[in-house]
Amino acid sequence: MPELPEVESARALIEARALGRTIAAVDDADTYVCRPHLPGDLASALVGHTLSAAGRTGKSMWLETDGGEGPTLGLHLGMAGRIVVVGREGATESTAYGGDPMSAKEAAEAAAGGHPDPRLSGNPAWTRFAIEFEDGGALLLFDKRRLGRAVLNPDLAHLGPDALLIRKADFRARVGVGEAPLKARIMDQSVLAGVGNLLADEALWQAQLPPLQPAGTLTAEQLDHLWTVLRRATKAAMRKGGVHTGKVIDFRKKDAHCPRCGGVMVKAAVGGRTTWWCSVEQRWPR
Ligand SMILES: [Zn+2]
Repeated sequence: MPELPEVESARALIEARALGRTIAAVDDADTYVCRPHLPGDLASALVGHTLSAAGRTGKSMWLETDGGEGPTLGLHLGMAGRIVVVGREGATESTAYGGDPMSAKEAAEAAAGGHPDPRLSGNPAWTRFAIEFEDGGALLLFDKRRLGRAVLNPDLAHLGPDALLIRKADFRARVGVGEAPLKARIMDQSVLAGVGNLLADEALWQAQLPPLQPAGTLTAEQLDHLWTVLRRATKAAMRKGGVHTGKVIDFRKKDAHCPRCGGVMVKAAVGGRTTWWCSVEQRWPR
């Protein structure tokens, strides 16, 4: 599921491969993914404009057009979305992917010569939103779960600071308050944007902090340590290809033991999400 590192890979792909390309057509027929717009709204707003910048806060991306003079397109990958950039017609550049990592099966299909454009292979309905460029290429939102979004001029005011960019003092002030369990607090996108379920479990395990501890009871030292560890874990995930590469992720299962101390891994729903932690080092109450 795309968290900050996966969304950043999608943003970087768009920045590297889609900027400077002019929009010739838009398929915005999926009224759920494009809500609240009506079919044709995004097309009439975007056709003729040129992508000029790709930004991101947390898990939300926005694409500017015409150097910021044109409309802005907001994109969200939802629970399983992937950005696909198809190269210029007649050019040798290959189709590239960013966002939700490919499964082994998908990678094998691609390697076996499946058509690089998912609109022409597999289930074409999984392409929920598409931009066709004047050069014959395209930018697609490929999303089996249909929980991604494409909207015009997105309002991102409800998001807290990006988890990778937030300053230490701001992190301390925003995260270290309230009765909510720490895990729920760091996943609250209005507090801190970008942390999803796996990154939260990884960072709390690395910091040896209990997911169930009320956020307001952490000391300044613990909050500063979590700030450091969370940024480090996020950068490692970006480098290694996604949040599934975290050190504790393979041990988030029944009968598994903590890879650091050997304690039994335990789970519960925290903030509505399945949460795994080390029963020894992350015990709560202590
Ligand atoms: Zn442990």
